[in-house]
Amino acid sequence: MLLSVLSSGSSGNATYVEAEGRGVLVDAGLSCRRIRALLALVGRTLDRVQAVLLTHGHADHTAGVASLVRECGDGLRVVAAPGVGGGPRSEVVPEGVPFEVCGFEATFFSVPHDAATYGLRLRAGELCAAVATDLGEVVEETLLWMRGADAVVLEANHDAEWLRRGPYPARLKRRISSSSGHLSNLQAAEAAAALAPHGLKDLVLAHLSETNNSPARACGTVSRALRAAGHPGVRVRASLPGRPTPWIEVGAPVAGYRREAGQLFGVE
Ligand SMILES: [Zn+2]
Ligand SMILES: [Zn+2]
Repeated sequence: MLLSVLSSGSSGNATYVEAEGRGVLVDAGLSCRRIRALLALVGRTLDRVQAVLLTHGHADHTAGVASLVRECGDGLRVVAAPGVGGGPRSEVVPEGVPFEVCGFEATFFSVPHDAATYGLRLRAGELCAAVATDLGEVVEETLLWMRGADAVVLEANHDAEWLRRGPYPARLKRRISSSSGHLSNLQAAEAAAALAPHGLKDLVLAHLSETNNSPARACGTVSRALRAAGHPGVRVRASLPGRPTPWIEVGAPVAGYRREAGQLFGVE
């Protein structure tokens, strides 16, 4: 199983996951034209994408669905959890119930946000990846769904101190830091430390604020927490808007890992 976060942040989210040559997109918050260009950067074409799985209805996760459907036609499945939307073509599947899509066993699990929002667990054989962005807090149930995943894409939206001191209006600050808002670096770090003993090998930090966070700040906070918890081997990267992460080979062993220049920021 291979994974690349193609683009991440409030300007548009899309993650590509592939197993045995068949690919799915988790969210499509950018136009078909942009997604095609981002896929090209990781050596893939749009015809590999057989399904789009939608985690929630906010435009930064769904804005490209209509153009993808127009471009790809009936060959493209659009699958959404309840209350997400996704247009007339979307199949609605219940949360918490595994379904089959392009050779994956996929399960949506609900997370706290200010709209009907879900994380997604994808299994292919022995391998497992989980994606959870746009969540105000990581509750025990969220951890249980992500436990055992080899690779996790997890929101690290803001540094709490940078948000507090930053330029946003007070009301927006309250919304972001609330339990139905967005995850802070420290909250992501705590979740990572809880998942690390259960086989976590790759962690991609996602949905970083360009105002209230930086890739170095997010990776630093999370890596420190993992080291302090006795799990220095977990590979931690940040994903960026419009720049796909290097391929993550889900399940690749952590032994012998060395961080190479560029990997921290997911830029090649
Ligand atoms: Zn979002
Ligand atoms: Zn959202």
